[in-house]
Amino acid sequence: MLPSRRSESHSPASRCKSAGHPLTTNGFHSIPSSASSSTHSMNRQGSVDNLIFKLLTRQKYVAKCLGFVPARSSVAIQTTPVVERDIVGCLNEASKPRISNITFSTVTSATGLPTVPAEPNKARSSSYWKTEATPSNNNEHETPADLLRKISVSRKESGTHVDTVVTTIDGQRYDTKELDNDPDFSETAEWAFPIFQISRKYPKTILSRLTYNIFQQAELFRIFKVSPIKFFNFFHALEKGYWEIPYHNRIHAADVLHGCYYLSVHPVRPQFGVVKSPDSLLPAPLPLAASIMSQMSTLELMALFTAAAMHDYDHPGRTNAFLVTVEDKKAILYNDRSVLENHHAAESWKLLNRPENHFIENLDPAEMKRFRYLVLEYILATDLKQHFEIIMTFNDRLADMDLQVESDRLLVGKLLIKMADINSPTKPYGLHRQWTDRICEEFYEQGDDERKRGLAITPYMDRGDAQVAKLQDSFIAHVVSPLAQAMHESGLLPILPGLETSELMINMQHNHRKWKEEIEVETANYEPTTCNGGGVNGVIEEESASTSDSPDPRRDSPSLDSELSQVGAD
Ligand code: AMP
Ligand code: ZN
Repeated sequence: MLPSRRSESHSPASRCKSAGHPLTTNGFHSIPSSASSSTHSMNRQGSVDNLIFKLLTRQKYVAKCLGFVPARSSVAIQTTPVVERDIVGCLNEASKPRISNITFSTVTSATGLPTVPAEPNKARSSSYWKTEATPSNNNEHETPADLLRKISVSRKESGTHVDTVVTTIDGQRYDTKELDNDPDFSETAEWAFPIFQISRKYPKTILSRLTYNIFQQAELFRIFKVSPIKFFNFFHALEKGYWEIPYHNRIHAADVLHGCYYLSVHPVRPQFGVVKSPDSLLPAPLPLAASIMSQMSTLELMALFTAAAMHDYDHPGRTNAFLVTVEDKKAILYNDRSVLENHHAAESWKLLNRPENHFIENLDPAEMKRFRYLVLEYILATDLKQHFEIIMTFNDRLADMDLQVESDRLLVGKLLIKMADINSPTKPYGLHRQWTDRICEEFYEQGDDERKRGLAITPYMDRGDAQVAKLQDSFIAHVVSPLAQAMHESGLLPILPGLETSELMINMQHNHRKWKEEIEVETANYEPTTCNGGGVNGVIEEESASTSDSPDPRRDSPSLDSELSQVGAD
């Protein structure tokens, strides 16, 4: 049974206290001038104005960015980073090398998978939309069901423009012309992308719509001859498999996809690979600016975006530790290791493998194997149990890091999806607050379940003893900050024109400060009667033991978003 729904803008979880500052009109928080009654308040106000001015300037830049990835312009591979070159020119450059110019070695699987040949040099059609979307029966591999579905693609041609409507196997209609021009997705290159606003408009299809938008931006339909019907069949089935729960729902999946897109599309200046002669008296040369997207292969990009969309598929709203404790059948199946992540990957891959969903059908066998390898690596990397190991591997590798080496690109891809997965503290306060309320509510539902089962309630999951600020302080200090810092210091976080540092770092420091202030106020006001102890809520630690069958919050939890069922053009 599906859970009842509750409003997406549900009230903050009990005792989740707002420490909010209003958003500015451009969606960015204002830095609190009262953060401390500093004697430097005039200077502070000056720097606030300065920051807002810079952010506004940045908006113009983003428009420019969107212009350079216009409708379906190329975000093609560029192996030689460009020094201080206008990014517009940088990405539009007709002569830049594509996949075939990148040299690949082979993939050696850390998980024991066989060595997989890397992407072959394969010329790809640039006219897919003109030729392949037409219903045809000359493909001998097509089943009758494929043909029937193709017939549900109606096409009108007016001049050179192709107007395509796709209806999925379960009757969901997508008008790709509308999607291509949807103003709701005009801000995908913005870190403050208004995801909740858009999910109110498209409560059932936000993930498929955003994925379409991003695949289009990166030209993946054309490059990999992706069938639009199979694409929408898959991504719509995928989004339907996300539960209507407060946090691990399709909005989170879309948010992580968006994070991967933002982090890969903007130019960065990696600090690794900068060679300076030891004898030189000159300062080390400024690292070159290029987007990660321009340095990854298109297959790696498609794998990263697909993995982001898949990464929490069929999440039951309970932690790995809980599933292990109750000996859930998923924990048994995966031997208590990365239980959820294995489940998300395996089940969403099964979904992708259905003939009607198999949008990667036109990859050749070597590409297919590598795509699967990459998707699995990216999804499994989202287990926070591997968090510090991945950061340490990255830090250890930094001195020799080289984005021409595919294992280094894989590592960077893992950092990107991980950062996107825990991005909320790095967002403007309004967005961070909503995500915090949601994760807290999901934790409390687990706490309720634990109470019902007679289990010890996991720290921070007791709704009767909410400690939101402490949880956030701990999560930011111990989990988000080390990753953000590692990426920032190595130059992997975009610093947009007009800003002196990454907006992720600005937001995270601001949000962290607010939670700390809240803790100070709480501590000054009352003595807590209960203390739940340290750790970050059992998110990272695994626990063991005890009874029972599969938890199903859909059966017994209050749940999400009456709004989700009411609104929208879905
Ligand atoms: P995932 O389950 O793939 O989304 O992994 C990220 C994990 O980070 C979540 O399951 C949460 O346990 C944890 N997390 C994310 N955001 C927060 C937050 N704001 N506060 C505490 N824990 C969080
Ligand atoms: Zn996630």
